[in-house]
Amino acid sequence: MFYEKKFKRIYSVIWAMMMLLQMLFPFVSVNASAEAVIPGRIEAENYSNKHDVQTETTTDTGGGLNVGWINAGSWMDFHVNVRNADTFTAAFRVASPNSTGLFQLKNASGQVLSTINVPNTGGWQSWQTVSVNVDLLAGNQALRLYASSGGFNINWMNFTSSSSSSIYSIPASSIPEPTGNGVLSFKVMNGTNGAYTDNQIFWGVLGINPANGKWSYLDLNGNLLPISLALNDAPGHLTKNGINYANIYHKLSDAPWVSMPRITSGRMFLCVATECYIKTYDSGFAGPDINNPKDPNLNVYFDFIEFTVDATGYHGNTTRVDMFGFPIQHRLVNVEGTYDRTVGELEVETRSGLFTKFHQEVPAQFTSLGNIQAPYRIVAPIHGSFAAGGVNANYFAGYSNFSTQDILRCDGAVSNAQTCAAINRHVYTDDNWNVVRNYYQAAPANYYSKFWHTHAINGLAYGFAYDDVNNQAAYLETSKPKALIIRVGW
Ligand code: MG
Repeated sequence: MFYEKKFKRIYSVIWAMMMLLQMLFPFVSVNASAEAVIPGRIEAENYSNKHDVQTETTTDTGGGLNVGWINAGSWMDFHVNVRNADTFTAAFRVASPNSTGLFQLKNASGQVLSTINVPNTGGWQSWQTVSVNVDLLAGNQALRLYASSGGFNINWMNFTSSSSSSIYSIPASSIPEPTGNGVLSFKVMNGTNGAYTDNQIFWGVLGINPANGKWSYLDLNGNLLPISLALNDAPGHLTKNGINYANIYHKLSDAPWVSMPRITSGRMFLCVATECYIKTYDSGFAGPDINNPKDPNLNVYFDFIEFTVDATGYHGNTTRVDMFGFPIQHRLVNVEGTYDRTVGELEVETRSGLFTKFHQEVPAQFTSLGNIQAPYRIVAPIHGSFAAGGVNANYFAGYSNFSTQDILRCDGAVSNAQTCAAINRHVYTDDNWNVVRNYYQAAPANYYSKFWHTHAINGLAYGFAYDDVNNQAAYLETSKPKALIIRVGW
């Protein structure tokens, strides 16, 4: 599945473009500031472009510079990365001896997102904070502060998320060092907004211990313990329908952080309300099978992430290849503090909202995928009416010479990654298969996959097995991982 592992070096491209801009248009001020992250604080003087403003030393707490000499029509642009679409509280640090100051926060299209009145604070260096709510979309974008009326100074603006259980609310400084053989620290967060308590959310890690080659599970101390057939009947085991299952699970309430050692072919199962029911063997495990009508997990809320921790770092992803159980966010932070990325469903999306939107947004052939295993999951097309014998078994007929089942599984005659991706995305007959804006624009297409991209952070999702072609997958990787944070949404 990991066909392409490298992320586009998009930041270096933006940097090069800025430098080129400055060479061609030296009269345009381009500050050499790093892209700012929202939620977070942005110094006003760290604009990327400006018109009719100047900076000066500020006497405000923290020192540094503020922006002043602001007139009607002055503006400052900021390149920002909004981590998740949200309603933010935007606080602006302003000073003015007048009560005439008025400015707008605009997006790149010029749309006014919020209007801010600057009060008379008592002087050019008498600072106050004024706050407004502003809705921002996720991703890289430009924001403009536009002065409708001048006569004020601004030092900084600070955007905080209105959702208290945000995956971004955990500061890097709060992450403990891993212990023992740990490579990184990880945390599973409760993002269910009160639907479930921390002792109703379970996680269990299964994978191969590279130190001895044995299939193992992770304990709370960060140790990999071998699994076995005997483990299903060990003290503390689970039982469902008279059958025993290994209890490899921990509750969120058991530990705030756990150390993760190197592990190969790891899976972290996330189970809500009850544990999952997985049979362990001496040489592996039998995970949930949503095609098996007798699977004990069919009426369990579960989901998972897949990952490997090895000598080259952490490599992992969320996946919608087979199903959606509940919203998950997956954040990876590196040791140097230079890598901090999150993939998964947008935090603002609720589980019930996604079920509703699925019915509203996908074409009629796909809507049953949201029904057949509801309320537990939305299933991928191959697990519904697009399987052999189903009413949509020939859905892709005529678009290529391949069978609908091979297309949806990227298997058999469609095991070539690029070909499978092109057909699922409906760009197979296009000259260029790598133009993202052309993906899923006409039928036949994998609209199940399209849906998860539409509702994902930065549009990245694993909607089918080779969705990593052209870097579209919800995949994270860094060579020196420090922390992994998983948020269970609801
Ligand atoms: Mg400042």
